[in-house]
Amino acid sequence: MPTFVRTEKCDGCKGQDRTACMYICPHDLMKLDKDGSETGHAMKSYNQEPEQCWECYSCVKICPQNAIEARHYADVVPLGGSVQPLRGSDSIMWTIKFRNGTMKRFKFPIRTTPEGSIDPYAGKPEADMAKIQDNGFFNHNEQNGYRAGDPSELIKV
Ligand code: SF4
Ligand code: SF4
Repeated sequence: MPTFVRTEKCDGCKGQDRTACMYICPHDLMKLDKDGSETGHAMKSYNQEPEQCWECYSCVKICPQNAIEARHYADVVPLGGSVQPLRGSDSIMWTIKFRNGTMKRFKFPIRTTPEGSIDPYAGKPEADMAKIQDNGFFNHNEQNGYRAGDPSELIKV
């Protein structure tokens, strides 16, 4: 079931060319309605193909305004209930609302190292983008080329 945007919370990511939800959606579903001609809400994003949404929650988690919600299947989250994440730098706070008014919150860690601390190359040479179309890995030359095949390593059935 699809996501929807709370227009009163969305600020259009302050008018950037590409909003956070547009950037993160693996299905390219989120769209900023710049002049309001498509939805009647200028500078608000919306899910342009709700039936294609696979409810991955990426946009819900990345939205800096916490403006996106997912509408679930009624057999998973009954009508009137909701599941909403609030992402922090090292954890996500999940708020579960039951339709009888009960609310539960729990915090779930999402990383074990400080944000921004990862060294993507870790001593290896940086990627040479000129080699992006070449066969093999971008750093295979630095690692003395390909290793010759060894028939003894083949899996035989
Ligand atoms: S990420 Fe959130 S605030 Fe930014 S455009 Fe999308 S819904 Fe609006
Ligand atoms: S839940 Fe996932 S697939 Fe659906 S709009 Fe958000 S990012 Fe895209």
